[in-house]
Amino acid sequence: MEVVGIGLLAFLFIAIAGLVVIFAVIKAVQSSLRNVANRAMERVLNVGERELVKGVQNIERAIGDEIAKNDPNRLATETMKLAEEKAGELTVSQVMSGLDVRQDVAVRTLEGIRKKSLCSVQDRNGQIVYIFPGFKKRKPVKICEYCGGTYEIREEEPLPSCPSCGAKLKAATVLE
Ligand SMILES: [Zn+2]
Repeated sequence: MEVVGIGLLAFLFIAIAGLVVIFAVIKAVQSSLRNVANRAMERVLNVGERELVKGVQNIERAIGDEIAKNDPNRLATETMKLAEEKAGELTVSQVMSGLDVRQDVAVRTLEGIRKKSLCSVQDRNGQIVYIFPGFKKRKPVKICEYCGGTYEIREEEPLPSCPSCGAKLKAATVLE
């Protein structure tokens, strides 16, 4: 009886120990599987996050470029530079191609500069030309303050007095 009892106890002990080991193994496998899955998921999330961040940065850059492109101050500065290059005369289409902007933006920019009295508008047979006096070449002339006549200065025939009214001429400069 006693031998049988010890044998049964031993069997039970081994069985329980075996179950504990099996349980532990299952737990270990489960947790390692979970770690692998987590790491894989983390990698996916990291990649997704990086792409997301990159995407947001690209959008921010695009918005920034767009804002910079349409910044009125920058557009006015660029237009003034262009006016200087074109010797003080600009058309709307020159601003459109020179600054790569739409017609309404070009007109708005030119009109903004005109409101600051830095340019004026001339209608030349239906073509609107913006004149920037600061960038126009000047030439010396003689003007008559009495009748308003303007005469180019010629070396060969100096004009002491106004050819039309005889008043004394005054030296001045006019825009070319
Ligand atoms: Zn005169």
